[in-house]
Order: sequence, then C-alpha cells, then structure tokens
Amino acid sequence: MSSGSYSGLRLFLEGLRGHRGWSRAWNKATPRARYRVVIVGGGGHGLATAFYLASEFGITDVAVLEKGPIGLGNVGRNTTLVRSNYFHPDNVRFYEFSLKLWEGIERTLNFNAMVSQRGTLNLFHTEAQRDLFTRRANGMRLQGVDALALGRDQVRAIAPLVDLDNGRYPVLGGFLQPRGGTVRHDAVAWGYARAASRAGVDIIEDCEVTGIRRDATGVTGVETTRGAIGADTVCLAVAGHSSHLAAMAGVRLPIESHVLQAFVTEAVKPVLDVVVTYGAGHFYISQSDKGGLVFGGAIDGYNTYGQRGTLPMAEEVAAAGLTMMPGLARLKVVRQWGGVMDMTMDGSPIISATPVPRLILNGGWCYGGFKAIPAGGMTTAHLIARGEPHPVAAHFDLNRFANGRTIDERGVGPFPFLH
Ligand SMILES: Cc1cc2nc3c(=O)[nH]c(=O)nc-3n(C[C@H](O)[C@H](O)[C@H](O)COP(=O)(O)OP(=O)(O)OC[C@H]3O[C@@H](n4cnc5c(N)ncnc54)[C@H](O)[C@@H]3O)c2cc1C
Repeated sequence: MSSGSYSGLRLFLEGLRGHRGWSRAWNKATPRARYRVVIVGGGGHGLATAFYLASEFGITDVAVLEKGPIGLGNVGRNTTLVRSNYFHPDNVRFYEFSLKLWEGIERTLNFNAMVSQRGTLNLFHTEAQRDLFTRRANGMRLQGVDALALGRDQVRAIAPLVDLDNGRYPVLGGFLQPRGGTVRHDAVAWGYARAASRAGVDIIEDCEVTGIRRDATGVTGVETTRGAIGADTVCLAVAGHSSHLAAMAGVRLPIESHVLQAFVTEAVKPVLDVVVTYGAGHFYISQSDKGGLVFGGAIDGYNTYGQRGTLPMAEEVAAAGLTMMPGLARLKVVRQWGGVMDMTMDGSPIISATPVPRLILNGGWCYGGFKAIPAGGMTTAHLIARGEPHPVAAHFDLNRFANGRTIDERGVGPFPFLH
C-alpha cells in the first residue's frame, strides 16, 4: 500500500480526519528467490543506491537486505553534518556533487529531511594552520565551491560561545563554508527507504546476510537468515561490517573497524546557529532543532565492532569542547553513543568493482559517509547499471591500494586512526 504524497495540504487534511489516512512509509517486503541486484545493508548508502538504481537507471528488480530495522546503523548514529570543504580536488568534486544533491533532496524524495545550510566554521589556531586552511579554501574556490576566510571579530559575531582567547589555543580566525550545515539523519534513512519502496524496490528488514554465493563466473547470490537469494549483482553497503562481508566472498579489504562516538546535551534555547569545528583537537559541535548541543570527536583508536561509548573518549571530547567553549561546562550530557566506522588506510572511501565479478563495494566511509550518501548512492548505482565508474567517483576504486594511488586527504599516512 502506497504512503501517498506528503505535503502541507495533506497534513492539514489528515489532521481534520484524525490522522487515519496515513499508511506505512515503506512496504515490509518478503524476500523473493532472485533479484537482478541485491544490496546488502539498509543504511544511507544501500538505500540511496537502491533509490537511484530505480529512479535514474530504471532498474527496479532490486532488494535491500538489512539485518535489523532500517536506520539503526551509522546513518542514524551520526552528528548530521554535511559539507564539501575537502582538500584533494577529486574529493571536493565528489562531496560538492553530494552537497548539490542534498540541496534538492526534499523534493527528490518528497520527504522533509530538515536540510539546514547554517554554515560550517573551521577554527584555526596557528599560522601554519591558517596556511593549510587557505590552500584548502583556495582549492575549493577554484572549483566554484563556497569558502570564506573570517577574522577573529567575524568568528566572534557568528559564534559568540567560542572563547577566542583561551590560554592554550587562542583562535586566530576561521574558514566558513556557508552552504555546509546539517540534515536530519533519521529522515534521510526513512526518506530514501520510502522513495525506493515507492519506486518498486523490496526493502527487507531483519534479514542478515550470512554468506555470499559465487561460482567460477562470479557472484551468484547471498545466504541469509531468511533463506538463499539469487542475484546477478551483489552490492555491499555495510559500512563498519565491510571487511566481514567481503571476507565471505574471499576478498580482503584495506579497511579496519573502529568505534566513533557522539554526545548530546539537554535542550537549551538557541545558542549556536552554525556548525563549529575546533582546530586544535578533534571536536565539532552543532545545535539540534530540539535544542540539544550535539558533538563528537575522534575514533577510539582500537579495532572493535562495539557500538558503545567509552569514558576515556568522553573525557577527551569534553576537554577539547570546554577549551573551545567553556560555557558548555554548565550543560548536562544526556546521551552518548557509538557507531562502527569503516576506516580505510588513506581516509577516502571505496566505490568499486572487486576481484569477484559482479560483487560491488560501497564502503570505507571513515568519519564522513553521511554527507556522501546522495553522491555515494548515485555513483554506486551508476557503477552497477553502466558497468563503469561514475566520473566523480572513479578515483575511489579498490585497486588504488594495490598500485600506490592512495588519496590521503589529510596527508597523515596509512594510519586509520589519524584520518
Ligand atoms: C558518532 C558518529 C558521528 C558521525 N558524524 C558524521 C557527520 O557528522 N557527517 C558525516 O558525513 N558522517 C558522519 N558519520 C559517518 C556516517 O554516519 C557513516 O559514514 C555513514 O552513515 C555510513 O554509511 P551507511 O549510512 O550506509 O552505514 P550504516 O547506516 O551503518 O549502514 C550499514 C548497514 O548494514 C547493515 N549490515 C551490516 N552487516 C549486515 C549483514 N550481514 N546483513 C545485512 N545487513 C547488514 C547494518 O545493520 C547497517 O544498517 C558519523 C558516524 C558516527 C558513528
């Protein structure tokens, strides 16, 4: 049963009749014996890939297999930040492609994703950092992407909570991407699931993939907790479980799994209407529409599939946050959680064919895969449908690790915990 079109008028009319006309946002499909494309993982990237396969490439014989309910993976655990302020020119192009898709996402999906382009402000604290950020901003502007250099007074005006003169790392200025901001993460999962389902895709929840079937010609399907399912093409979009799933097909990936945590405070009146990242430690913060201050830091640095918070990271993040915004000390943290990150050795993702014919990989998103969901979905769908990489994602091939073309966005070397 279709959920129909969502609009202000429909909301008003449903209100008049006691909201009895709403139906499920997406159909609870039961698995069929065979599909043209099976996508493993009902997170942002799996659902977006399915949606664009159907809407852009006319391939609707698609199933998305999700081991739990939709939206409980990283897509529903992140800090909702979107931006395209990258350094590597190919990365700027890819993330800008994504940001442009975000700008029209609510119309595309007919879903309120609460896209808020409130700006992303990166603070800098040393002259060397100013130079680095200037190079990045100039590179962005050369590609027509918005980036503004701000002095201390402008930073103070935009983010009065920031202590510019803190004793340890005084703030010298900042760089603003005005079109950066936030998008409601759950709405992204629900919006893509609903739109894909409306386009004819089967969304199959509580269906864990336990094996990948292959013969001499390549992949032939998957084994699941709900039986075997045949497929012409299998796409892995399982984020922190990428290595685990690829190993089922005999493929070893240059990906480690680490926990990344986030925190939210009690709700307060509006105090911060821009996303701020601290340049002297790993800390970023924004205020949600409910009023809570949402913030996070770095990965824990050891391999794990745990989705829990830890006290040492809470201390580290709090220390960075209080140095930057001492006023935060007055707030209570009400929740802390974690998600399993798929950290590659160069900090950039993988959208690629694999050594197993017709087994496609979308993964290695490290910290930053939420902002990439529209572009990741579109380019993965392109790769599946056309059999060749999309021009803005061609550099994300798996072979780069074998032949030395790594894309080290931050210039820190092959150490996942530094990306
Ligand atoms: C705390 C935190 C903060 C973050 N903040 C940001 C941010 O501000 N901006 C940003 O751009 N990125 C951020 N990220 C990263 C971003 O959330 C991820 O990179 C992105 O969501 C990963 O892609 P996904 O949505 O497809 O993953 P997921 O939502 O994790 O989807 C993968 C799915 O695969 C399923 N799965 C796994 N194994 C199997 C199996 N065997 N069978 C079937 N299904 C399976 C999982 O259940 C899961 O639902 C953050 C992540 C975390 C944890």
